[in-house]
Amino acid sequence: MGQDLEKLKQRWPLLDYLQKQNWVAQAAGYDSEFVGLCPLHEETQPSFYVNARKNLFYCHGCGQGGDVIRFVELSRHLSFRETLSYLEQQQSAPPGNAVDSAAVLEEAVTFYQKQLDRYPEALRYLEQRGLHDVALRQELRIGYAPGACLRRHLTALGYPLDLLRRVGLLNPLGRDTFYARVVFPCCQGERIVNLYGRSLGDAFPHRFLPGPKGGLYAWDQVQHYPEVIVVEGLFDYVVLRQAGFHHLTCALGNHLSACQFRQLCDRPRKVYLTFDFDANGSGQQASQRLANRLRARGIDSRCVLLPDGHDPNSFFVHGGDAQQFQSLLEAA
Ligand SMILES: [Zn+2]
Repeated sequence: MGQDLEKLKQRWPLLDYLQKQNWVAQAAGYDSEFVGLCPLHEETQPSFYVNARKNLFYCHGCGQGGDVIRFVELSRHLSFRETLSYLEQQQSAPPGNAVDSAAVLEEAVTFYQKQLDRYPEALRYLEQRGLHDVALRQELRIGYAPGACLRRHLTALGYPLDLLRRVGLLNPLGRDTFYARVVFPCCQGERIVNLYGRSLGDAFPHRFLPGPKGGLYAWDQVQHYPEVIVVEGLFDYVVLRQAGFHHLTCALGNHLSACQFRQLCDRPRKVYLTFDFDANGSGQQASQRLANRLRARGIDSRCVLLPDGHDPNSFFVHGGDAQQFQSLLEAA
């Protein structure tokens, strides 16, 4: 057993695994040490260290640490045994066929969309988060994953289980990955490349399928605008769209990937960063640093300050309107 574990870990170096999950790292100054934002807890300043030689990680923010197996256990909420079978499967999985994955994701999104109207708790949740516009809901193809029904649906359509596992729609045990989550497709051009699932409850609120998130949200619709608002979450995105702001995109998190950063810099434009601010000020600092990096690339960037403790979503849910938000942009 011990030997097998060692072999498994050798075949799955931690750093490779993390990079495959889009972890963005910088050299930490020491030989084979890397640092980046912790994938296990929300943070705006990097405190997650990986030693590639020792094949170990440690996060100074949440105190978690260990090897690749421990990381998979924590990040995917799997038991030790499930983690081993997951890693074995990742090993043997043939390279993903992009056409197959896009087709099955398309099918899953259509299915989730149909579920939404059948679950009052999901509709109530959307209302609570301030999304009232049914046409926008349909345009963004928002759906609901009740759990324990996608597998049956997709296998009945002839999709093989190993494809569903590989794409991440099913977990290693073969069960639906998304349970009681509102689901948004993330697209690159026309093609769905990932799904974001927001749980109705507070436990593990944000979840993506493994694999790239696909750049800035709906980027091909906004890239030609001379001014672009960037928000952190999709529920910030929906309330602003609903309020009539179209020059808008979402970073799907509070940290821009290298690809997203390149997108923002691909031509001269003005960028409004509207990220959540936390009480200790680290959000503000991170926003400011990002603004500086963008300015260094010739992008006129502004940090938008929302009233105390608000993100764009809560700002609108608590009665803020388009005109007030426009004044915040102008004051930035
Ligand atoms: Zn952490």
